[in-house]
Amino acid sequence: MEILESVKTRVYKFGNKTADGNSKMKNLLGGKGANLAEMSLIGIPVPPGFTITTEVCTEYNLLGQEAVVNMILPEVEKSIANIENIMEAKFGDKENPLLVSVRSGARVSMPGMMDTVLNLGLNDEVVVGLAKRTNNERFAWDSYRRFIQMYGDVVLGMKPESKEDIDPFEEIMEALKHKRNIQLDTEFTIQDLKDLVYDFKEAVKKRTGHDFPTNPWDQLWGAVVAVFNSWNGDRAVYYRNMHGYPSDWGTAVNVQAMVYGNMGNNSGTGVCFSRDAGTGEDVFNGEYLIDAQGEDVVAGTRTPQQITKLGSLRWAELAKVEEKDRAKNYPSLEELMPSIYNELNEYQQKLEDHYKDMQDMEFTIQDGKLWMLQTRNGKRTGAAMVKIAMDMLKQGMINEKEALLRIEPNKLDELLHPVFDPKALKKSHVIAQGLPASPGAATGQIVFFADEANKFKYTILTRIETSPEDLEGMNIARGILTARGGMTSHAAVVARGMGKCCVSGAGALKINYKTRTLTVDGKEYHEGDWISLNGSTGNIIEGKVATIEPELSGEFAELMNLSDKYATMQVRTNADTPKDARIARSFGAQGIGLTRTEHMFFEVDRIKAMREMILADTVKGRKHALESLLPMQRDDFEGIFEAMQGLPVTVRLLDPPLHEFVPHQLAQQKELAEEMHISLEAVKSKIVELEEFNPMLGHRGCRLGNTYPEITEMQARAIIEAALNLKAKGIVAKPEIMVPLIGTVAEFEMQEQIIRNTAQKVFEEYNDSIDFLVGTMIEIPRAALTADLIAKKAEFFSFGTNDLTQMAFGYSRDDAGKFLPIYIEKGILKVDPFEVLDQEGVGQLVKMGTEKGRSSKPNLKVGICGEHGGEPSSVEFCYNTGLNYVSCSPYRVPIARIASAQAAIKKSM
Ligand code: ADP
Ligand code: MG
Ligand code: MG
Repeated sequence: MEILESVKTRVYKFGNKTADGNSKMKNLLGGKGANLAEMSLIGIPVPPGFTITTEVCTEYNLLGQEAVVNMILPEVEKSIANIENIMEAKFGDKENPLLVSVRSGARVSMPGMMDTVLNLGLNDEVVVGLAKRTNNERFAWDSYRRFIQMYGDVVLGMKPESKEDIDPFEEIMEALKHKRNIQLDTEFTIQDLKDLVYDFKEAVKKRTGHDFPTNPWDQLWGAVVAVFNSWNGDRAVYYRNMHGYPSDWGTAVNVQAMVYGNMGNNSGTGVCFSRDAGTGEDVFNGEYLIDAQGEDVVAGTRTPQQITKLGSLRWAELAKVEEKDRAKNYPSLEELMPSIYNELNEYQQKLEDHYKDMQDMEFTIQDGKLWMLQTRNGKRTGAAMVKIAMDMLKQGMINEKEALLRIEPNKLDELLHPVFDPKALKKSHVIAQGLPASPGAATGQIVFFADEANKFKYTILTRIETSPEDLEGMNIARGILTARGGMTSHAAVVARGMGKCCVSGAGALKINYKTRTLTVDGKEYHEGDWISLNGSTGNIIEGKVATIEPELSGEFAELMNLSDKYATMQVRTNADTPKDARIARSFGAQGIGLTRTEHMFFEVDRIKAMREMILADTVKGRKHALESLLPMQRDDFEGIFEAMQGLPVTVRLLDPPLHEFVPHQLAQQKELAEEMHISLEAVKSKIVELEEFNPMLGHRGCRLGNTYPEITEMQARAIIEAALNLKAKGIVAKPEIMVPLIGTVAEFEMQEQIIRNTAQKVFEEYNDSIDFLVGTMIEIPRAALTADLIAKKAEFFSFGTNDLTQMAFGYSRDDAGKFLPIYIEKGILKVDPFEVLDQEGVGQLVKMGTEKGRSSKPNLKVGICGEHGGEPSSVEFCYNTGLNYVSCSPYRVPIARIASAQAAIKKSM
């Protein structure tokens, strides 16, 4: 970074239909700043202001406050003057004051992560001038008390002292409401507001030991620095880590002229979406409040009203509000202020057309004039993501490739989770209803505090309302339930972004944090009680509700079909049972890339035979035990081959160290001894004999088959016989027999010979034959290094990237938990290499293995079957390396299919 370069622009102005920046400059101006500039450029009314770049945040972290303030002071002064000119008011002036907001804005939106201060520039004198100038004393003092409250919270650290406590300013307000016997902030008298300002300032003095700052410029710098600091606050750091955003991005600071939604009945503020962020439905929707400012709508202290009439009617039905009551007390903006509504409707359409994506917007109405304050591509659920992409494709707004690239593959996961069984739902007892804020099905035990979200395995975080501090707990909980707040409340927005089931604004719930109880209609529920949430209907249900597997249908199915048009790399699945194979096939798997045969041995009736085999001292004894395993294995293979009929199935020969199969408890050891007619001592000593210091590097994989060839023989026979039995029934099986853990070509050759000899024998016995392949896993670095030799023999390669990662890094997968999290926290590693393929290192082995393998066998079929096969960035790497397929767990198949299509599209662009 060139800190000394003085010509660099650090402050970008916007407003009055011009701007120094634009929407392409998100990295420098942050999302909010870049879009404010863009809106200004396309003629949408935004209050004028300026953006201090994200680079300045990084400079601040390096150089500290003084140096940075000095560096940007001239530019900031010039930019404030520009706002003053446009607004015809003066910052800090006692007669005609300009007030500003100070807003954070990172390059990606981090809702509620960073804090905003409104009405900055007020003090005891300016407030009097503002009251006179606007002829609205109530508004001036309301703004002042809000300013002290926000500045106190964000800049001066006036937070609640413990989690049961409420915000110190709220506490003062609540006390006054109680004394005056009123409910709403809007009921305060002017004198009340003056008293609040006084009490707030006293509270600040008492807690911080300093007077509240009166000089507007001091206030401004205090707020700017607070925004920079918030980039390294707990909430922001947590959110960044959750999404893997690097800490050196920094945040921009936006300083913008205030527009006032709190000037009375002709003013208001709101939030709106150009389409439904929960379901994706193409309807304009949102919420607003009259005589309100900033976060009032999302804070959930007053019941927000719907913007459209359609939305209002739908809301009334859910909230059980009679039409007369609705029309009188909760009219839509469309009904209340038709011309403002029309203008807003025009802007939302214009913005959606401009950005070609669903927009999430903020607006304020100041005395009958509409101002737009923010727009961004809206966060949405997985279901909405799919529907919006497919709808926009059909509406001709985007093309097929763009529609596919709109999909965040990992978000499809939400659509693949179980849903409530309609039969169970019919019988369920609905205790209350809230708003369907974020779809999904969640069952869990009630907890009331975000930091207790992991108190039970499955929890429902139940709150009066949520705040940004609750983020971590919201992420852990299965579902989120709030008593207050609308469809745009913090809980709702964050839940939709996380794809988490959420029911908000369930007014019938009485929540008591102190007693940890939830009361509905006189019935009390306690912490730990089970409830279920239906995020699609808003129903809150007593107890647990059974779930069923989801299906690929509607737009989701259309999207997957579309992906097949572009994907060239195939997607297979890792499946050990016919059931998994069927699920994967229904999700579009094009074969099985890995069947782990050992999983079949763990079932009760089989483990005994397996143990007998392991404990046998002689070849004869082993063969005897294997004979009883043979029919079971053959049945397993028949089931899987049948489920995948016509598609290739890769079967891996026995892989894990044998000691994993022997009993470690005395009772079971005794039982085994009796069954085998040997002494307990003999069993015990055999088990001791099997113990290894490093089992993962020990007697496992092909080393088993090469030392006990009869195991390979039995498995090969089971596979071939299964395929032949199915052939007799007219079912095509395509086995691909895979030898695990080879490091030298000789290890492979010996196994291959056993397999082929056995197959030949079986063919003769059946007087029939089938086609099959014999290939190998590449999971030991030496195999990758000698892949050209191995490919002369092997008919296919499959990279076992779990073991390959383990051996390339020298990290034991079973022990890495002790240091990997620390490594990631300290930045030694960016991500867990067992989750995301390490392209730089392990990836080189994959690349080399593929290239070397194909140098001796140009058509060599190459795949990957580690956990990485379902991770989008790893899938893209596999595509670029020229792999024929990736293989992943059944539920990740659709994710990998989209990632495969995206990789092909990106390369073609
Ligand atoms: P967040 O990133 O948490 O949404 P914002 O910076 O968007 O925070 O601001 C919080 C609230 O204050 C929003 O409702 C926004 O519309 C409002 N707001 C911000 N700046 C102004 C302004 N200059 N005039 C009026 N309202 C504003
Ligand atoms: Mg905002
Ligand atoms: Mg392995």
